[in-house]
Amino acid sequence: MTAVSTLVAELTGIKSAQLNRSSVSGGDINQAWCLSDGQRKFFMKTNEPSRLPMFEAEQAGLEAIKNSQTIRVPDVFGCGIESGHAFILMEFLELGGLMDEELFARQLAKMHQHTHSQFGFAIDNTIGSSPQTNRFSNNWGEFWCEQRLGQQLELAKNNHLDSKMIEAGEGLNAQLAVFFSDYHPQASLLHGDLWGGNQAADQAGNPVIFDPACYYGDHEADLAMMELFGQPGCAFFTAYDEVFPIDSGYSVRRDLYNLYHVINHANLFGGGYTASARRLIDKLLAQT
Ligand code: ADP
Repeated sequence: MTAVSTLVAELTGIKSAQLNRSSVSGGDINQAWCLSDGQRKFFMKTNEPSRLPMFEAEQAGLEAIKNSQTIRVPDVFGCGIESGHAFILMEFLELGGLMDEELFARQLAKMHQHTHSQFGFAIDNTIGSSPQTNRFSNNWGEFWCEQRLGQQLELAKNNHLDSKMIEAGEGLNAQLAVFFSDYHPQASLLHGDLWGGNQAADQAGNPVIFDPACYYGDHEADLAMMELFGQPGCAFFTAYDEVFPIDSGYSVRRDLYNLYHVINHANLFGGGYTASARRLIDKLLAQT
């Protein structure tokens, strides 16, 4: 791992031969490693060389969140290709501390108050291992229609998923403007993939988020995903709402935002996700 060792050496003075590598469990997509010289530790993820853009986008996302100075993310040292593997190298965080839900809520709300003039992001990224484009747009409804639901429905066609689900999804997508006729969100800095596996606390109890799929979008999209794969409690929402009030129409849009992740899961894993997507689509169509 010459490039990684050189990078570590440049940053820290630790020489390559002194680095030990042990595997870290828990990731979905990549192999994860702890590099250590016995004193300092680094966290590294590796994948096929073609996955380098995914790591470059992860670096850009982590840096955007770090620059918001609102919630802890690991410092990134760099990414590249070495010995036939793409890698990203970052600070190793001792996770597993006690999560303070209210502190997390306030910090997330403050992160969401970092806004941009348009929806999108400077770099495309991935959601799970699916591509996620982030071309800048002035119109949130159009962004969601074209670059979120539309792209997943295209993937669903390529994957030959249930055509009835896809047709119903396209019917819903054609009417998407209905959901945004009197709701005009700000373009907030989002984590983008905020399921429970991408949030933790360090040993001092500071909330930490990692493995983002960042873009500027409706803050409700992050909240919705937290509810899709977890159960943030009343205390979380009360604390969040005190910093960044949640609009009363959130409960309807929550399904719309989560539909994106459910179709993505159908594309990635199949199984019951296609039927779940169909149920969500029918529920949303009933609101139009
Ligand atoms: P993947 O991209 O494969 O989904 P993650 O980024 O989610 O991988 O990382 C895998 C696991 O490694 C996480 O679930 C978490 O427990 C741990 N982890 C992530 N980032 C760090 C870090 N900077 N320091 C220490 N452990 C980390």
